[in-house]
Amino acid sequence: MQQEHVDILIIGAGPSGTVAAAYLQPLVKRLKIVEKSKFPRFVIGESLIPKCMEHFEEVGLLDVLEKQGYQEKHGARFIRGHRSCLFDFGDQFTDGKKWTWQVPRADFDKVLADEVERRGVPIDYETTVIDIEFDGTQSMTTVEDKDGNKRQIHASFVIDCSGWGRVLPRLLDMVKPSTMPPRKTLFAHLKEKKIEGESNVGQIAFYIHRRDFWAWAIPFSNGNTSVGFVGNPACFEIYEKSGDLEWQMRTIISEIVGLSERFDKAEFAMPPVSMQAFAASSKEQFGDGFAITGNSSEFLDPVFSSGVTFATESGLLAAKLAYRQLQGEKIDWKTDYADYMESGVDVFRTYVNAWYDGDLQDIFFRTAREDKFVDNFATDATRRQICSILAGYVWDKSNPYVRKHQRALSSLSKVVRMY
Ligand code: FAD
Repeated sequence: MQQEHVDILIIGAGPSGTVAAAYLQPLVKRLKIVEKSKFPRFVIGESLIPKCMEHFEEVGLLDVLEKQGYQEKHGARFIRGHRSCLFDFGDQFTDGKKWTWQVPRADFDKVLADEVERRGVPIDYETTVIDIEFDGTQSMTTVEDKDGNKRQIHASFVIDCSGWGRVLPRLLDMVKPSTMPPRKTLFAHLKEKKIEGESNVGQIAFYIHRRDFWAWAIPFSNGNTSVGFVGNPACFEIYEKSGDLEWQMRTIISEIVGLSERFDKAEFAMPPVSMQAFAASSKEQFGDGFAITGNSSEFLDPVFSSGVTFATESGLLAAKLAYRQLQGEKIDWKTDYADYMESGVDVFRTYVNAWYDGDLQDIFFRTAREDKFVDNFATDATRRQICSILAGYVWDKSNPYVRKHQRALSSLSKVVRMY
């Protein structure tokens, strides 16, 4: 079998893999990405949050993204019936990035991968990792190309950025059931109707259909809008019995105030897709000679759009630590990687759970007045602190809603329920 030798091997060319590669490219001589698909390829995860802009900026990828004309995203609007609650990223507690983008990921991921390749990182597309063996920190990864040819890549460090592929958790028997209940999603891209006097483009909108059944609308600069539903699988059953995916989407849209006005009879720009039980976890996030990042390590839930930011945060951090390790430094992967990432995941977990048990929805809507689409939320200080969490600043311990996330949120929901 053909043999190859690299210093660092990255599995997967999604945002986690390309940010890791962009960081390592000037530092590491023999660096390679292996990617199962041919780009462009579709992947869900189209609404970014501001924190990830720091990662693209740090590794010099912001410039090329800025040239693409993606739809700017300045906030998130939550809508239940005729009430709405807006979080404007320009007005938040943490002194961080104040906006981001809404991106068709096939295009976005290809722009990132092409730029990394242009800078000299080889990407072997249509090359799937099928096996890995470790001898201490040294690894031998077996890959297979689209014609069935196998070869082995020897590496001093492997960064698993394989997203839903979850390559190392599967190959090393480390898959752990997620603590989140299984949920289902149905989504597509639609051609949005223009409603006179209304502009929805600069923000993601979350529409609450029922407490545990919600919709997103993410407009792109190409005129299409990503629309999707997430909920307990039982929420979808009644629709599944009656029609195909397109019929199901149209029916659910017609039932949701605000969404129906935007997408009634809208043309599909992409056939609908359904996915189930997407929450994932891994028993370990690192080991001798490897680190697991992004979705491959943990994915909680689509609400709050944190997936790409966790992917780039973990990809970048793993790259930095791996480089230092190759330089001979002893790295405390538990403290500096696994515990650090987990502390951010924990904050989001609190907010995701509070979303589905209704606490967060009450916080968002009980303080809003009865009029149509009024933005009115708790006190200004509280709104700004929660806004920073929605912007991805879940490691900012000066924010009480990060530091004491569970206690702060549960106290706030009790207070709000007294109104
Ligand atoms: P990916 O982007 O999935 O990239 C992994 C790459 O690895 C892929 O290109 C794949 O082909 C490759 N690969 C897989 N297996 C192998 C193999 N064996 N060998 C070689 N290569 C391999 N996130 C957001 O930030 N915003 C959102 O609005 C959002 N919405 C979501 C909605 C839904 C319904 C779901 C389920 C998720 C959503 N997410 C969202 C999460 C988002 O999809 C992911 O968190 C994000 O794509 C993770 O990036 P990544 O780089 O870890 O992996």
